Amino acid sequence: MQILDGKETSRLIKQEITEEIAALREKGAKVPHLVAVLVGNNGASITYVDAKVAACEKVGMKSTLVKLSDTISEDELLQKVKELNEDDDVDGFIVQLPLPKHINEKKVTEAIAPAKDVDGFHPWNIGKMMLNLPTFLPATPYGILQLIERYNIETTGKHCVVVGRSSIVGSPIANLMSRNSYPGNSTVTLTHSRTVNLAEITRTADILIVALGKPEFITGDMVKEGVVIFDVGITRKPDKSKKSGYKLYGDVNFEQVKDKAAFITPVPGGVGPMTIVSLLKNTILAAKGK
Ligand code: NDP
Repeated sequence: MQILDGKETSRLIKQEITEEIAALREKGAKVPHLVAVLVGNNGASITYVDAKVAACEKVGMKSTLVKLSDTISEDELLQKVKELNEDDDVDGFIVQLPLPKHINEKKVTEAIAPAKDVDGFHPWNIGKMMLNLPTFLPATPYGILQLIERYNIETTGKHCVVVGRSSIVGSPIANLMSRNSYPGNSTVTLTHSRTVNLAEITRTADILIVALGKPEFITGDMVKEGVVIFDVGITRKPDKSKKSGYKLYGDVNFEQVKDKAAFITPVPGGVGPMTIVSLLKNTILAAKGK
């Protein structure tokens, strides 16, 4: 079994990005600027947004964190989105999800200018992705594709099983893996909570991409020898032995599958860090697009 090391791969990509940004500075060109909008005090969201802002700073990109109260109205948030759309200094921005219940996430996502939608969640960008046109790919699927490329994982003709059909992970990665390009050209089965005999299907996977949010859901008897596994899931469970007070769990029971898998992403240190570098890459793309 070989670990697909997202931490190390993302470090290498960040190094490449750092050089690209330094070259821009030297030329006196504008440095890409990412804005992250955080609404409320969700612990996981704060961690994710802080990591995104820190990654921008590390590579020399400009970043701004906009913190808004969870009592903000939908109209006020839409006004903030409009301001960011119109601000020429901002190349790309994200509104961290989930949003408080009184705000319609779909409405906010659709209000973001497609050219600044570096999360790749706007229907316009999703449509372009479906048509295989150049666009911002959603960060987590894009991170998985980059890991596949960097580790030269063969995808052509392989059976790729995706568990979970969310619009930010499962559905887009299923589409990308079936595209007529590399990485892609896989035969894809997209599964979800209504799938019958899931284990029978996952046992036929050459490539298994799991994003359902249920810790250690995929067990040793659900995979075949030689499978390549991407574990997207991240669940926090309280753990007093950890400095942070919690331990992170993936959707795959690592101990049970590790002797069968040819390659596997660990949690943490697998898909998570790749998601962040994808956001950086999308921000550079947004800046170039301008
Ligand atoms: P969602 O909750 O939006 O979707 C979960 C999907 O899993 C749904 O499609 C659901 O099916 C399916 N599902 C639920 N139970 C089962 C089951 N028993 N069998 C098969 N399918 C099932 O999740 P997300 O895609 O947003 O996130 C999934 C996980 O990935 C979470 O742990 C999240 O924290 C993590 N994540 C990690 C990221 C990273 O950077 N590493 C980025 C984004 C997410 P149905 O549609 O029928 O309800």
